[in-house]
This record gives sequence, structure tokens and C-alpha cells, in this order.
Amino acid sequence: MARIPRPHLPVRPIWLCRACGHPWPCGTARLSLLTEYRGNRMALLIHLATLKVEAEEQLARLTPGATPAELTERFLSWARARG
Ligand SMILES: [Zn+2]
Repeated sequence: MARIPRPHLPVRPIWLCRACGHPWPCGTARLSLLTEYRGNRMALLIHLATLKVEAEEQLARLTPGATPAELTERFLSWARARG
């Protein structure tokens, strides 16, 4: 039986990638999000902002050291349109 590749989705409430274990969104997750939301950058940013708020709440309970600025970088900065 062929192995089905695991989707790169976040494991809540720790927000690590279920497939590769990197902090979510990992590189693969970012690529699939960019593909999924191609031509609709605003919808992608709204989607990520919603997830960031959720991650912020959950991670604040687990790791009080995580700052909102780091999460903004991690969830949003990479997705902003360049230039
Ligand atoms: Zn991953």
C-alpha cells in the first residue's frame, strides 16, 4: 500500500507541523498556502491573521516567552506582497 503523504498542517496547541515537525507554517505549508491562495493575497493574509490570533492564545499558555512580534513575523511577514 502506497503511503499517503501527510499534509503540512499545524498540530494544536503547539503549532508545529504535523508532517515535518517545524514551527508552523513550515516551508512546505507556506508554499501550499501560496498556491492555494494564488491571486488572492488579501484572503491569504486574513486567513493567516486569524490563525495567528488562535496560535497566540494557545502558545501564550504553553510558552509565555513567545511574543506577538515573533508570531507576526512567523505567520504574516513572509506572505506580504513584496515591493
Ligand atoms: Zn511541514
